[in-house]
Amino acid sequence: MKELDLDRLRVDPGKKISLREDFDPGYKVAATKAQAQLWLEQARALLANYQERLYAENTRGMLMIFQAMDAAGKDGTIKHVMSGINPMGCQVFSFKAPSAEELDHDFLWRCFKALPERGRLGIFNRSYYEDVLIVRVHPHILDGQQLPPGLKGKGIWKRRFEHIRQFEKYLVENGIEVVKFFLNVSKAEQKKRFLARIDQPEKNWKFSPADVRERAHWEDYQRAYEDALSHTSTRYAPWYVVPADHKWMTHVSVMSVLLARFKEMDPRFPEVDDQARERLAEARRLLESED
Ligand code: ATP
Ligand code: MG
Repeated sequence: MKELDLDRLRVDPGKKISLREDFDPGYKVAATKAQAQLWLEQARALLANYQERLYAENTRGMLMIFQAMDAAGKDGTIKHVMSGINPMGCQVFSFKAPSAEELDHDFLWRCFKALPERGRLGIFNRSYYEDVLIVRVHPHILDGQQLPPGLKGKGIWKRRFEHIRQFEKYLVENGIEVVKFFLNVSKAEQKKRFLARIDQPEKNWKFSPADVRERAHWEDYQRAYEDALSHTSTRYAPWYVVPADHKWMTHVSVMSVLLARFKEMDPRFPEVDDQARERLAEARRLLESED
């Protein structure tokens, strides 16, 4: 399968993007679905190997963030990407509307508690980005956030973007890599997937009438995403806008980004020094001297 050009998906730091003009939800590489499946199988084996090394190295971690409109395929992508990975080395957190306890804290608090440990892959299925997305699209949610009145007004989104950039810089400078994916589904494809969720009984559980109400705010969401992505794609924690109208293409794109990032990180099994080698030899002697 032809290599995917990741520069096409990355949001250049400092660039103001237009989702409509700069990214195509239906983009595909020239490959058949079968070729993609084969590639994905090999990619999963590579990823599992990287993860094992990350775990053994035990100094760095990786946080993957998934954001998207409903039915863009977050859950399926997480399932695909993580299958084959040792469950001990990964963790997934899904962020829903905040609880009363969470609302009693600043917006990063609940995410802080869910960060991956060193050696682990952590996944955020939605994240603190909701606080500049749904909260921006629905101002009444911000009203419920118990902020002091003077901090709710003008400039709040700019300030939150700054908080997020600083937070992610802090993570990266402490050994936690941050990789961010926006699954870019088209409005037409979302409609198709909603209809399938309504029509097929085994998919009914995935559908909530509230999803259709959110769809009515599609343009507001697109604008909120454009602004958030433009302000928070940085050299140390870039955003990738992943084409999401073809599920196999979503999986191939996410996997390609992860493998590229791991290649750069190059995690390694810890070196065994002479002293440790001597301790191993001593352990072997002990074992062999048993009856
Ligand atoms: P699914 O694909 O299963 O629908 P989901 O991620 O959409 O998964 P839901 O339980 O349907 O999960 O929705 C979670 C909802 O919680 C989303 O609408 C999201 O925008 C909302 N949410 C997340 N974080 C916040 C927040 N900080 N404030 C308000 N709402 C939030
Ligand atoms: Mg939902």
